[in-house]
Amino acid sequence: MSIQLFGLAVSRGVAIGRAVLVASGRIDVAHYFVALDQIDNEVTRLHNARDVVAAEFAALLRDMPSDAPPELPALIDVHLMLAQDESLTGTAGQWVRERHYNAEWALSAQLEVLARHFDEMDDEYLRERKTDIEQVTERILAALARDAKADAGLAPPRPRDVGGEEPLILVASDIAPADMLHFKRSVFTGFVTDVGGRTSHTAIVARSMDIPAVVGAREASRLIRQDDWIVIDGDAGAVIVNPPPIVLEEYRFRQRQGELERARLHRLRHTPAVTLDGQIVALEANIELPEDAATAIDSGAVGVGLFRTEFLFMNRGQDLPGEDEQFEAYRAAVLAMNGLPVTIRTVDVGADKPLDRLTLHELRHEHTLNPALGLRAIRWSLSEPTMFRQQLRAILRASAYGKVRLLLPMVAHLSEARMTLEALARAKQQLRDAGRAYNDIEVGAMIEVPAAVLILDSLLNHFDFVSIGTNDLIQYTLAIDRADEQVAHLYDPWHPAVIGLIASTISRATAAGKGVSVCGEMAGDPVFTALLLSMGLRSFSMHPRQVTAVKQIVLRADTRRLITALPSILASEEPQRIAAAAFALPGE
Ligand code: PEP
Ligand code: MG
Repeated sequence: MSIQLFGLAVSRGVAIGRAVLVASGRIDVAHYFVALDQIDNEVTRLHNARDVVAAEFAALLRDMPSDAPPELPALIDVHLMLAQDESLTGTAGQWVRERHYNAEWALSAQLEVLARHFDEMDDEYLRERKTDIEQVTERILAALARDAKADAGLAPPRPRDVGGEEPLILVASDIAPADMLHFKRSVFTGFVTDVGGRTSHTAIVARSMDIPAVVGAREASRLIRQDDWIVIDGDAGAVIVNPPPIVLEEYRFRQRQGELERARLHRLRHTPAVTLDGQIVALEANIELPEDAATAIDSGAVGVGLFRTEFLFMNRGQDLPGEDEQFEAYRAAVLAMNGLPVTIRTVDVGADKPLDRLTLHELRHEHTLNPALGLRAIRWSLSEPTMFRQQLRAILRASAYGKVRLLLPMVAHLSEARMTLEALARAKQQLRDAGRAYNDIEVGAMIEVPAAVLILDSLLNHFDFVSIGTNDLIQYTLAIDRADEQVAHLYDPWHPAVIGLIASTISRATAAGKGVSVCGEMAGDPVFTALLLSMGLRSFSMHPRQVTAVKQIVLRADTRRLITALPSILASEEPQRIAAAAFALPGE
């Protein structure tokens, strides 16, 4: 039966494929297709892991101390039976044979199927047995991981290199931002989640990868079944499950149209971004990893306006990257940009970007009450002075290889500016003492909280430039958790307060002779390009994939005409309506 689900459109385009349900927190399980001649080996690998775990359980039973609580042997006995049960490893073996999934993927896919059966049981005792099957699966996955490590010489095929398979779409209750790094290297061509907001970091990474995605689709992971055909309409925020042939055909047509449009825009990548009245506009790129710099160059971006360094720190447990490792990463990005500026933002962890693989649900319910207002961004860095100085030294050292700018996230207090500048001076001194080279770098603050706009004139005394993080500025101005789908309808970039704060920041920074850019999602959304140009903005930073779409608007803009509409937009209770009439906004 065909059903339609709605969520939030976070990343444009159409994806069509088979649903792969993955439990939140298990996205790090390797997903790749096994070559035909390796299928038997893969099934054997799965069975071996099962046998290892069964032997572990048998040994536990054998060596059980006589004073152990009586429930324990009974429990282990159940686990032993589950490990050997055909419905787990046996059926997972079929996934390997029929779908060519690797063993880990097959096992976790089968776990999802079984977990649903358990969820639907009326008997509470039986329902709770789901935990047992999860624990047993974890053990088999761990055995497979040990086996994969032992076989490290035989790297699995790179997922996207294995052609000829059906496209796959990941469906999960939630995906942690840290897991998006796995996603980047996975086989999936789109994803759907139950939770999340338009500017949650999971959504941001999806946009940066240009992968159609819908988040906040509430019941999606319950209603969609393993292997269903689904269509993601990333423009409308819709997911169509098992579409009828005529609907599928329509979406295939739209998918082809989208590809043609992309190819057309791509031809603009080397055209300089200059308005009709000769205003030069810098269109820079936001990146998460050094290797994204290549995509930035390919998009025609004239620099990196935001390097979100926190992604280097995720999934590392206690083993956070030290100074040398960070330096290598920053230098790689700087060298890849080949003389173009690279704005490196100090680590912005916290809120919906925890260091370890926590989902939003875990963050909200098991950690701090309100992580968005907690120890995040520059606050976190200042509370970890050793780590902070390591990062500053690494960034300074990278400045010897190109044009580097330093950017501080979420500055709200002048004391944060002072403390950071002191830490920077100390880091420079340490480098001089060690005889290491660095260049003088510009230092900027992100404008992400209303307080920063209110004290902008003082902040500008301390900084060379500012960069407006509209994602957080909207969140903190409107008191809307940007990652919470329940209040997503109130997350409104067109709110007069938001528009007013952005306009005020741009005009005051420009009047003070300081650089100003926007690096939040608004900068990459062509709907806002004319508005931001009318406010005097000449520097935008966005996902590389958005550069040409924004450039197209810049090339057709005449800022002398745009500017005349600004006063009425700023004075209006309905800025969006006035702007739509004045600027003929795309998509309106
Ligand atoms: C922002 O808040 O707009 C921004 C660019 O920073 P991040 O999205 O990484 O919080
Ligand atoms: Mg931010």
